[in-house]
Amino acid sequence: MSHSLFTSTFRLACSQPCCPFCWMQDEDERRYLRSLLHEYTLAPDIHARLSASAGFCLRHAQMLVETEWAMERDGLGTATLYESVLRQLEAVTALALETSSKRPMLRKSEPDETIRRILATLRPQETCLACQHGRQNEQFALKSWVEYLLEEGLEANLAQTYLQAWGVCFPHLLRLLEQRPSLEVARWLLSDFQSKLRQRSERLEAYIHKHDVHHRHELREEERLAWIEAVALTVGDFHKNLRGVL
Ligand SMILES: [Zn+2]
Ligand SMILES: [Zn+2]
Repeated sequence: MSHSLFTSTFRLACSQPCCPFCWMQDEDERRYLRSLLHEYTLAPDIHARLSASAGFCLRHAQMLVETEWAMERDGLGTATLYESVLRQLEAVTALALETSSKRPMLRKSEPDETIRRILATLRPQETCLACQHGRQNEQFALKSWVEYLLEEGLEANLAQTYLQAWGVCFPHLLRLLEQRPSLEVARWLLSDFQSKLRQRSERLEAYIHKHDVHHRHELREEERLAWIEAVALTVGDFHKNLRGVL
């Protein structure tokens, strides 16, 4: 992603009702899985890489299934990829069984040592492929935003847009500060987070206060979601998994 592409994507991200970095990450990961399903379900290196991590993590496995179903109303791509994953799991399970039947040299710590060796055989060699891809893009986005603020200044158009946006989640605030911005930029990021915290606390207070049946009709739209947004501010965007609740 180029810097000009970053600024246009970031502007769009700032118009979403969630952390802009979480939104960009989610969009990017879905795009990545779509391209994987479109072009790489027969690629031997992808099969080998996915097998080495025992498939995707829970979040990305769910995203993969959702993505393919939305695209094709079918699961052939996922089936093709996971055929290799299961085959690899079968192979390591057989190896673990073989390991467990061997007599260890030290009789004293026998059961513990055998379990340790079984686990070492089973544990995936790699982390989730989509997590790895996502981390690289996330890092680029965080770095680009800090560089934008340093180069364009805190009065720049996009900086002002950011102040009006939903705000960053706490994990992304930490990751922005890990980019080692100037002290001025760090204080600007912190005071924006502080003002978003105050706003969310006020909404939470209103949600709790107006919660009994006599006052429920007084709840404004943004207050109705206050409890979800309070949680989202601490962990990042998880709204997409809560369709049944919202
Ligand atoms: Zn976030
Ligand atoms: Zn993952």
